[in-house]
Amino acid sequence: MSVNLLDFDAEHMAELMVRYGEKPFRAKQLMKWIHQRGVADFEQMTDIAKNFRTRLAGDAHVKAPDMLAEHVATDGTTKWLLDVGVGNGIETVFIPEDDRGTLCVSSQVGCALECSFCSTARQGFNRNLSVGEIIGQLWWANTRLSAEQARLGTPANEDGRIVSNVVMMGMGEPLANFDNVVAALRLMLDDNAYGLSRRRVTLSTSGLVPAMDRLRDACPVALAVSLHAPNDEIRDHIVPINKKYPLRELLAACNRYLDKAPRDFITFEYVMLEGVNDLPEHARQLAALLREVPCKLNLIPFNPFPNSGYNRSSRDAILAFRDILIESGYIVTVRKTRGDDIDAACGQLAGQVKDRTRRTQRANDAQPITFRS
Ligand code: SAH
Repeated sequence: MSVNLLDFDAEHMAELMVRYGEKPFRAKQLMKWIHQRGVADFEQMTDIAKNFRTRLAGDAHVKAPDMLAEHVATDGTTKWLLDVGVGNGIETVFIPEDDRGTLCVSSQVGCALECSFCSTARQGFNRNLSVGEIIGQLWWANTRLSAEQARLGTPANEDGRIVSNVVMMGMGEPLANFDNVVAALRLMLDDNAYGLSRRRVTLSTSGLVPAMDRLRDACPVALAVSLHAPNDEIRDHIVPINKKYPLRELLAACNRYLDKAPRDFITFEYVMLEGVNDLPEHARQLAALLREVPCKLNLIPFNPFPNSGYNRSSRDAILAFRDILIESGYIVTVRKTRGDDIDAACGQLAGQVKDRTRRTQRANDAQPITFRS
């Protein structure tokens, strides 16, 4: 069966070359063609011997997920629905800014965690994405956006990169798909592939403590933690994984992570839910809670989706919350909502998930409560 070379990180590519009886540096040549130049056709890889190209074409291919749909928001944010087979689709979002281009990458088809305010959670969980499907999102974005730049004649960014930053903040819990996510992260950082700075690759987690420790050793990148609550009582309710790894353990893991992290702080994400976690007393509790962890706080205005059951905190509530934290000495930003007119904002990525957990069904069955005689 033909293998997809997007599934191969540097180590595996080198092993593959050895199996072919080729020199290990061939792996670097191949990676440069595939990831830097976006070439999928072996015939175009002209510094590789003709007969090896022919052998490769017989055994292997380079294939990113196909695009099913593209939406461009008024602010330039672009969302793609990408085909990952048998009726499943994942979403990838590109967010252009003056000084950078950020790609928000998915790690799973759906999500098995049940954060109550997240649209992906409502879709249920189907499966983990492969390495090729994760790195394929970056491959696709570069290919698509550079073709677009060429068409429009727009100049490239200072460093020539279209995607300068990656955030693992799309659909899924990246640390629940550990091995494939780490292999994809390594490709993002590899100088023969995308060569991104460790500081510009951020993984966001809901707080899988043992996997945070493993990531620190395997591939430390910038870390964001979806905190969302100032105490265990609220967090148990809205981020149920907290029952397994409560705040005390989570914050200890954050400090351990910082030993090896490329940045000297953790980013805590905090979604602002009206009347749930946005009161001044919550801000004061949060300020006390985070004393021991070098961090920055990112407040995310809740992005609504149908039947979410939550409302976004008012602008005044968000600013008052922010000010209490700033007065306590924290660095706080309020996340700009990007792409919400195309449902591309945080927590709105739904993709197309064949729900194998049948969560949607359960949710529908659960209400209203009826009694059968
Ligand atoms: N599972 C990982 C990666 C997802 S990142 C994690 O939980 O960190 C997506 C971010 O958007 C997370 O911080 C998530 O909690 C937040 N989010 C989810 N639903 C949201 C919503 N409806 N509005 C705003 N932010 C939301």
